[in-house]
Amino acid sequence: MTTGTGSPVWHPFTQHGLQPEMLPIASAEGAWLVMSDGRRILDGIASWWVVTHGHCHPRIVRAIEDQARRLDQVIFAGFTHEPAETLARGLIDVAPAGLAHVFFSDSGSTSVEVALKMALGYWRNIGEQRQRIVALEHGYHGDTVGGMSVGARGVFSAAYEPLLFDVVRIPFPAAGREQATIDAFDAACAAAPVAALILEPLILGAGGMLIYETSVLRELKRVAAAHGALLIADEVMTGWGRTGKLFACDKAGVSPDILCLAKGITGGSLPLAATLCTSPIFEAHRSTDRAKTFFHSSSYTANPIACAAAVANLEVWWSEPVAERIAMLAAAHTERLAPFRADARFANVRQLGAIAALDLEVPETGYLASVGPRLMQLFIDRGVLLRPLGNTIYVMPPYCITPAELDLVYSAIAAAPDALAREAP
Ligand SMILES: *Cc1c(COP(=O)(O)O)cnc(C)c1O
Repeated sequence: MTTGTGSPVWHPFTQHGLQPEMLPIASAEGAWLVMSDGRRILDGIASWWVVTHGHCHPRIVRAIEDQARRLDQVIFAGFTHEPAETLARGLIDVAPAGLAHVFFSDSGSTSVEVALKMALGYWRNIGEQRQRIVALEHGYHGDTVGGMSVGARGVFSAAYEPLLFDVVRIPFPAAGREQATIDAFDAACAAAPVAALILEPLILGAGGMLIYETSVLRELKRVAAAHGALLIADEVMTGWGRTGKLFACDKAGVSPDILCLAKGITGGSLPLAATLCTSPIFEAHRSTDRAKTFFHSSSYTANPIACAAAVANLEVWWSEPVAERIAMLAAAHTERLAPFRADARFANVRQLGAIAALDLEVPETGYLASVGPRLMQLFIDRGVLLRPLGNTIYVMPPYCITPAELDLVYSAIAAAPDALAREAP
């Protein structure tokens, strides 16, 4: 079975004119996807960065089954339930210090919308005129209108440009150019009051797996605090161990004012997101004045089944050697990346914790470069799911991946330049 030209389904970030056939996946286990015809594909990108421990983790599956039988869904305005309460307490326990309240939503994008609304609501409710948002060059914060506005602009946002609001963009803190970023942020804050700085801490995901120093994050936090601006850390991708620590902010010892979590929050099993904030932000909204209410909701806010999956995810973190698995995966990446550093066909070989990335040297670069989809097809042909960002190949597997499985991924990457050359017209 293939879902092909006859299917009514419209797929995300997919050019149906170039890719008429989708690969039908019937099941998954550990680091593997299984197609309807039985073919197995190794999931080298954790199914778009969401699966942390592995597919269909038994503890998470059981929690979902149990919760689905007890309470499937309930309105969350005026009501609460045990999975949400347990999860919120669990998140506060593991989050960077100072975060004291949890607002649930359904996706990384909505967690960002919520973060931006919290920031602006905070300033309005305390009676200060602050509406400017500062964002990092090459950032990605989701595909809703607010997320697109604070994210990098490009071909993927061009049609929607009239809907997007202005932000102050500061340069990416590339190695050796860190001070320019810090100075630009300081200047932006000095020029006019800034409501918030939003960034992906330590590594920009969709922007091309671009890594920057922990000291930059600390400095940006210091400048933000000096000017009273809020720091929004979008850890939708970096959270849940990807950078080697539970959260990237932990690596830098930085506490943001607002923290966005999604993707790995349920271990990658169900959609759920959380936006955490400090007490002052919550207190600015708590009032007998209804006009100061935080006006945001989605129908499935804090869905009990998704919350139960997220509670089970936390239990996996505490009951299994997840940190050790991540450390082993990080070491395995380092070892396997080494030969690529000496290979002129590759550039910018880099790693942050459980994330590895390298750029293929090709004449054509950028997101629309046709090399991306061609590479993806070559990898699929070898039974490996990797979805390059243009000519940037990255590996972000579930933590259960074994060294032998990781070898399959890296041998596919090593074979890619020759395979590309062979298929060139
Ligand atoms: C994926 C991602 C988002 C958007 O999350 P969705 O769940 O896809 O809406 C936001 N921010 C970052 C940093 C992401 O990587």
